[in-house]
Amino acid sequence: MELRSKVALVTGAGSGIGRASALTLAEAGAVVGVLGHTRSELEKTAAEIEAIGGTAVLLEADVADEASMRSSISTLIETSGRLDIVIANAGINGVWAPIDDLKPEEWDQTIRVNLRGTYLTLNVSVPYLKRHGGSVVVVSSINGNRTFSTPGATAYAATKAAQVAIVQQLALELGRHRIRVNAVCPGAIETDINDNTKVRGKDETAVPVEYPAGDIPITGGKSGESEDVASVILFLASDQSRHVTGTPVYVDGGQGLLR
Ligand code: NAD
Repeated sequence: MELRSKVALVTGAGSGIGRASALTLAEAGAVVGVLGHTRSELEKTAAEIEAIGGTAVLLEADVADEASMRSSISTLIETSGRLDIVIANAGINGVWAPIDDLKPEEWDQTIRVNLRGTYLTLNVSVPYLKRHGGSVVVVSSINGNRTFSTPGATAYAATKAAQVAIVQQLALELGRHRIRVNAVCPGAIETDINDNTKVRGKDETAVPVEYPAGDIPITGGKSGESEDVASVILFLASDQSRHVTGTPVYVDGGQGLLR
């Protein structure tokens, strides 16, 4: 298995892309720290990893809270001895609303989870990656990079664009430590994320476009699955991608090219 003897951290591992990535990395032989803020979800992911013969370390933390991130990553190092792979995945859609209706506290919450959360994940884990080199994958989006047409998603798109900027900046900064830093930019993927999305004033923000045969060319319109993203994350986490750094990889079935 290509990740045998490696230790990975996956944030937002309780559902969707994070859960699928945690399982895929565990299947490839990595010990996986499954981090998130909902213990019941993490217990399920950890049990699924153990059911396939893998090893999971359950880490309950809010990615935007420094103290809980520091203590979780310390726990992972104490239990597993090292850190090689970091998947900064936890994120929210937040509130999608017209810019003159979006409340400052709603803006702050999206920035807090998606951007402060990504920063803290890297701030706390990079010292351990520097010991032996490693691979970081940030889960960004087509939003803010290839597409700007999701109604009212200004705060979300801003965080997703910033994540790709962070990846490119850090690919240069951390190359000397043999740490590669890449992003995946998924299109529409079937997960729980829409359950936690609040949309207001869509009539005002929607862009009037219609696609004749579905807006995801490779599937005829059907959303992707978390496993479609997880397999690209495995590639970026492994030595198979050893000469790839500072790169966003679109996992959108061509969706973003239509916008
Ligand atoms: P999801 O809601 O299924 O999973 C997100 C996970 O993150 C959940 O387990 C949740 O508990 C956790 N989380 C949220 N806030 C947290 C916090 N403050 N601290 C710790 N954990 C927290 O959603 P998903 O679709 O799997 O999203 C994962 C990532 O993929 C996000 O960054 C999202 O922006 C990105 N993405 C998703 C899609 C899509 O269509 N689903 C498309 C592009 C990008």
